[in-house]
Amino acid sequence: MYEVSVDETFAAAHNLRNYHGKCENLHGHNYKVRVTLAGEELDAAGLLYDFTLVKKAIQTVIRSLDHKYLNEMPPFDSLNPSAENIARYIYHETAKQLPAPANGSGIARVTVWESDTTAATYTA
Ligand SMILES: [Zn+2]
Repeated sequence: MYEVSVDETFAAAHNLRNYHGKCENLHGHNYKVRVTLAGEELDAAGLLYDFTLVKKAIQTVIRSLDHKYLNEMPPFDSLNPSAENIARYIYHETAKQLPAPANGSGIARVTVWESDTTAATYTA
């Protein structure tokens, strides 16, 4: 099994609903996102997936989140903008952007860091 990962960052504000603690107040994070693809087969160039295509797909998704108040935009106007839900959202939105390669590789998981020491991962 091979894996490749691409990291990106974005800044956004949020507050958590149905939560009692300091994260119920409006605040921001410099989020780090890691999208990991996995597969058994490499292509003719010896690649699992072209980093350039992965980066472009992630950037398209992240552009819609960067410098936003997440609670005001779908799906986070109804879904709590926790790191877990942001990871799932980025997983599905990035998957829509990526052409399916002949070697059958695809996104294995997405990890979202809210800080250097706290992260949530979504695996389909
Ligand atoms: Zn927060």
